[in-house]
Amino acid sequence: MDHFSYEQGRLLCDGVPATGLAERFGTPLYVYCAETIRHHFRQLDSSFRAVGLPPLICYSVKANSNLSVLSLLGELGSGFDVVSGGELRRIREIGGDTSKVVYAGVGKTEEEIALALDAEIRLFNVEAPSELARISRLAVARDRVARVAIRLNPDVDPGTHRYITTGKRENKFGIDRDRARAVLAEAASLPGVEVSGIHVHLGSQITDVDPYVRGVEAVLRFIDSVPGLGEQVRSLDLGGGFGIHYLGEEALPAHCFAEALAPLLKDRPFELILEPGRFIVGNAGVLLTEVITVKRSGERVFAICDAGMNDLLRPSLYDSFHRIVPIEPGEGEPLLTDVVGPICESGDFLGLERELRPLAEGERLAVFGAGAYGFTMAGNYNTRPRAAEVLVDGGEARVVRRRERFEDLIALEREAGEPAG
Ligand SMILES: *Cc1c(COP(=O)(O)O)cnc(C)c1O
Repeated sequence: MDHFSYEQGRLLCDGVPATGLAERFGTPLYVYCAETIRHHFRQLDSSFRAVGLPPLICYSVKANSNLSVLSLLGELGSGFDVVSGGELRRIREIGGDTSKVVYAGVGKTEEEIALALDAEIRLFNVEAPSELARISRLAVARDRVARVAIRLNPDVDPGTHRYITTGKRENKFGIDRDRARAVLAEAASLPGVEVSGIHVHLGSQITDVDPYVRGVEAVLRFIDSVPGLGEQVRSLDLGGGFGIHYLGEEALPAHCFAEALAPLLKDRPFELILEPGRFIVGNAGVLLTEVITVKRSGERVFAICDAGMNDLLRPSLYDSFHRIVPIEPGEGEPLLTDVVGPICESGDFLGLERELRPLAEGERLAVFGAGAYGFTMAGNYNTRPRAAEVLVDGGEARVVRRRERFEDLIALEREAGEPAG
């Protein structure tokens, strides 16, 4: 569900015409809809509440880390799932509640761990045995005891793209069950850590309840197999991964996940933590782009746009599908069109072989489902300044990150010769 709609062939974002936004702010342009973000947060929250599992939702910052998006979620009462010191600093920057921050990540540096200890975050999700000792040592040095959750690798296949599968044994994430037992034993002897949770994160864009059910079953079996662990565990962090609509109606509404998990969890005393990223923001964003050139090569029609893989990497990286639709009405029989970017890479495309009416140079397209892993994965390849981001809320649009300028891109090179740090 989202608040983008077409009226007589014109795209509106929560009532605001997309053409006006493109004219005012230029393209490529990320447009986010605040109401859609609120809707998804509340939908997930109320679905789990309805089955007696009130969750602590820790929005996964890496999906969309714009400060205004984070503030909006903070105002709704969201916590945050961070995977780097930089993301944690964003939460501090917005004055967010760090007692609702959970920190996962396979390679936490000492500097990052220290930052998180000083911020008094809720939970470290520990991904390796040696990491536990490192956290303990740094905590002891601060006269603190860090609350940690063991990130269990449940060896469950979520049936998603291999690049976004994280809960199988061959993935680099988490600790397998046998080693996790040893880690728990070791934790008991470390003065700076207290194991108070178990964490799993299966992968991303999961469109079936089954992997969650199997994941939770694996976690509960694990907890029950370790004497005393059931009393020790206060939080059960199920990670994120809830899928959204990219093609059509492939995703499940939140209540399906809640209802499938309720029978397994309702008699357990755990605080339930969820770490949705894509589910909250994915459908809340579109990328507006202008068609620069239309040309034919053999039978193919190419629409070459001013947005490319540096702006939206997902199609090139994961071969993922984003719906692409002109933002104004037009005429003509649909043609199979490759919607591509201007970058010097054959892998630079937004969508291939799309049935689109004939496109004119200068007209604009909307790439849907661009709110998650869109801007956060953007870069400057081909010395392309990153797009501006706009948030539409209550009929008003405001710039939440200005468009980069050439001067921004070369500023650090002007400091060449200075110390690297
Ligand atoms: C990326 C990530 C998430 C969010 O995944 P989504 O598919 O966007 O919901 C949650 N938890 C962890 C540990 C992650 O790495």
